[in-house]
Amino acid sequence: MNLKFLMLLLVLALPTQAGAALRVVVSVDWEGRNLDPQNLAAMEHFRHDYPRIPLQHFLNAAYYTKADAEPRLTTAAIRSVLRAGDEHGLHIHPWRSFVQAAGVKFRTEPAFRGPLDLSQCEPDCGHDVNMAAYTGKELRKLIRFSIRTLVKQGFDRPRSFRAGAWQADNHVFRALAQEGITLDSSATSAAYLKERWGKTLLYPVVARLWPQTTATSQPYRVPLGQGLSILELPNNGCLADYVTGPVIAQTFRENVELWKKNRDKDIYISIGFHQETAQKYLPHLRQGIDAIVELSQKENLPVEFVVPPFTL
Ligand SMILES: [Zn+2]
Repeated sequence: MNLKFLMLLLVLALPTQAGAALRVVVSVDWEGRNLDPQNLAAMEHFRHDYPRIPLQHFLNAAYYTKADAEPRLTTAAIRSVLRAGDEHGLHIHPWRSFVQAAGVKFRTEPAFRGPLDLSQCEPDCGHDVNMAAYTGKELRKLIRFSIRTLVKQGFDRPRSFRAGAWQADNHVFRALAQEGITLDSSATSAAYLKERWGKTLLYPVVARLWPQTTATSQPYRVPLGQGLSILELPNNGCLADYVTGPVIAQTFRENVELWKKNRDKDIYISIGFHQETAQKYLPHLRQGIDAIVELSQKENLPVEFVVPPFTL
């Protein structure tokens, strides 16, 4: 083989170095509430129509702790919408059944819809309790239990995390890092939530936790002391329940402007939806993605749909 041919082969084998990309991460929050066929069907249609978009799943162990849970059927239902190349991350809402199954005392407040009425806690409750209310030791138990449950059901060992209702603070981060989670995606801009949640505790809590997060916030490392840290990938485009297609497109455009200022640096856009409301809100996301693809073709933008792990 002559040298010239060998060089050509080497060049072709190397990843392209055509500058940085606009990297879109599409995430799914699995709330641990239910697995209704119509939402799974909507997800399946999405997978069919967008086969090249991998999903960053924030899976939830609480499906397995419901009183009537059938693990085999639960796993099959979740798996029906997973595809090769997806990421299996972790999502936690401190449902009572889940907290108790993890061997932790259930807390009823603060909850973003107000204090819980335990007489109404059937079949389960606690979705709206702030997970940051739990101690570091309790959080580690919840995280460990989640990972153990999901791995036992055949899912990949989660390395990424999103807190229920974006409510993670540094003590949540510390528990995550101690349990081997390397990436968090709980930061978002409270502005997205004002219209729907402005009159509840959710809005001010998110505003207090993420005062600096905007539509163009980029990944950053959070130092946690004792050699620990976690990478924050802001959910800078929020989730489809709170943003329309045009808002997703606008977020993308703002990030394109950021990319144009320094084309050597990858720019991340994190968008997504909830499994439990997929039927209702996936149309928003589809519209947003179609607008992103259309704009990237029109302006020849280097858009990639990716999931972690990625190097920054
Ligand atoms: Zn959630």
